[in-house]
Amino acid sequence: MKIDIITLFPEMCESFLSESIIGRARKSGHIDIECHQLRDFAFDKHRRVDDTPYGGGMGMLMKAEPIALCFEDICKKNGTRPHLVYMSPKGQTLTQKKVKELAQYDNICILCGHYEGVDQRVLDEYVDEEISIGDYVLTGGELPALVLADSISRMKDGVLSDALCFEEESHYSGLLEYPQYTKPQVWHDKTVPEVLISGHHENVRKWRRLQSLLITKELRPDMYEKIELTKEDIKLLKNT
Ligand code: SAM
Repeated sequence: MKIDIITLFPEMCESFLSESIIGRARKSGHIDIECHQLRDFAFDKHRRVDDTPYGGGMGMLMKAEPIALCFEDICKKNGTRPHLVYMSPKGQTLTQKKVKELAQYDNICILCGHYEGVDQRVLDEYVDEEISIGDYVLTGGELPALVLADSISRMKDGVLSDALCFEEESHYSGLLEYPQYTKPQVWHDKTVPEVLISGHHENVRKWRRLQSLLITKELRPDMYEKIELTKEDIKLLKNT
């Protein structure tokens, strides 16, 4: 999968994308992420990427033309038109379901806004969807773009050691994850639940499932309501 990011701050994005799991996945070729400097596509006399809004008002807006030229250059270089996502507080809020959906694309391009946002005309003409990372406003689209690129990348084969790493995690199948423990077995007089050191895999699986159900019920009743409980779930819950 290829993810292209259009930004005024490619170094900011690179510093995150070169580290840890995503950095290793890029090096090993499991995911291809390229950051593009929008200023390289500002060809007017003053090489401006922003200007004042028509009708007045605070701040500056990103101009349409450099964004269009940058995106067209990406299309040409990739030999295909990526699905273009604009990170925006006005967009649909990002969920794990949306992440799974976007991970199906071979090519995605993420546009990071800055200042007061972007000229509406380029959004109308080029953008396929707008995505928000929550109901608050940040100074720029770089952090949201990194959130999106990270969440999509970890769905791709080879980025994590095993698909089980994300399949059992919170939100993947509509539940929150069970509690986890590591060594030492006793810490501050608190002991790891007995079942986890029993070596009995089936009991561990059942315990984890029950904990996921109980935690989801307590912390996210909205999610719990949507779960289709299995016969085993009902039995596990009855015994609590
Ligand atoms: N004037 C815009 C509004 O009221 O909707 C906000 C512009 S914001 C200061 C600058 C840029 O940051 C946006 O163009 C967008 O790319 C990004 N941004 C800010 N908050 C965001 C959020 N919650 N989700 C996604 N992107 C966001």
